[in-house]
Amino acid sequence: MPANPCSGRFDLAVVGAGIIGLATALAAVQRRLKVIVIDRDAQANGASVRNFGFVTISGQQRGSMWARARRSRDVWREIADAAGIAIVHTGLWMTARRPEAVGVLEAFMTTEMADGCRLLTPAEARRRCPQLLAPQLAAVLESSGELRVESRQAIPRLAAWLAGTHGVSFLRDTAVLAIDTPDLQTSSGSVHADRVVVCPGDDFNGLYAQRLQAYALTRCKLQMLRLSDPGFRLPAALMSDLGIGRYPGYAELPAAAPLKERLALEQPQQLAHGVHLIVVQSADGSLVVGDSHHYADTPDPFSQQAVDDLILDEFRLALGIEPPPVVERWIGTYASASDRPVLIDAPSPSVRIVIVTCGAGASTGFAIGEEVMNSLLDTGVHA
Ligand SMILES: Cc1cc2nc3c(=O)[nH]c(=O)nc-3n(C[C@H](O)[C@H](O)[C@H](O)COP(=O)(O)OP(=O)(O)OC[C@H]3O[C@@H](n4cnc5c(N)ncnc54)[C@H](O)[C@@H]3O)c2cc1C
Repeated sequence: MPANPCSGRFDLAVVGAGIIGLATALAAVQRRLKVIVIDRDAQANGASVRNFGFVTISGQQRGSMWARARRSRDVWREIADAAGIAIVHTGLWMTARRPEAVGVLEAFMTTEMADGCRLLTPAEARRRCPQLLAPQLAAVLESSGELRVESRQAIPRLAAWLAGTHGVSFLRDTAVLAIDTPDLQTSSGSVHADRVVVCPGDDFNGLYAQRLQAYALTRCKLQMLRLSDPGFRLPAALMSDLGIGRYPGYAELPAAAPLKERLALEQPQQLAHGVHLIVVQSADGSLVVGDSHHYADTPDPFSQQAVDDLILDEFRLALGIEPPPVVERWIGTYASASDRPVLIDAPSPSVRIVIVTCGAGASTGFAIGEEVMNSLLDTGVHA
């Protein structure tokens, strides 16, 4: 009979098997800790498998988020082969069609964040990708640092690798109900661990709910589409003017002010629904396209055709082609806070709560996991 996976005492229990929980588990086993990961779902079902799998560097907020993204990208690269995770494609093409958007890209190129980036003329871009027909294309910022994984495969493979190669125990279909280290009360009985990291995604009404009320958290709902194979390969992930006006690495530059004014005049519907364009490609050629941003404490679960149409309009403008047929639609939600990109809280010396509050967990999670483990081990809670 197999040993009960939750018997014995662990150095660390991680609550939540999304990317943040798995990244924390990886950082812990690299520090030789005995780890158990507990999740209430039978398999990953949250933001971590609903996202683009797009590990973005340029566009991340200048400073610590940009640095976290670079570190996390390096970890994705380091573990991908061993964990059987395919890097489906690399790089980003940030396309600009308005002069104001080109102005932001030029300003971006003068910052340290332009490391690995270059500006392409429309002619250069079309030579590399003749199918990019957008008549208004004015410039492309090519960034080489990004990569893309197929999250719905990558997350289960990362978990399987942590279990098989690194001996991490997984307890699924199990909600953690209360924590008083070293005791965790779960829906499957007690678990014992000296330290706990809670990575609950956008579930902030459960564990430590009262404590989390201090953080003004809300949820963001996103609409996502999969389009069938357009019949050609994208040179990289693709974004457009709306992304330049939204992603903080660009949008917080002073040069972005004229672009934001023009977008408010010309694309008010897109701004009202938080629409901007990301297009990434899967191994079978299909395109994952999004997205929109609607904020509410409990977002409704319904996908609106009118919002999908706004996303597809931007696709037409940015790529200059008719979008291929939609083959799949879904929504996802993530935790959001207007005053910080990441929340790391310490309810006790042996416990951390970690929530990415800016929709960039796939891009920054591995670095955050390392920071959290360093902070936990620095507090002197040693088994
Ligand atoms: C549509 C969409 C597109 C996105 N695109 C990108 C992108 O391209 N790049 C990027 O970097 N980021 C992207 N993001 C953001 C990114 O997906 C999230 O930041 C990240 O997945 C958050 O990971 P997580 O582990 O915190 O949360 P989750 O993946 O939601 O995992 C949390 C887990 O905790 C479990 N849990 C919670 N409470 C308990 C409990 N008490 N007991 C047991 N289990 C519990 C849940 O069951 C869940 O499995 C996107 C998000 C969405 C929704």
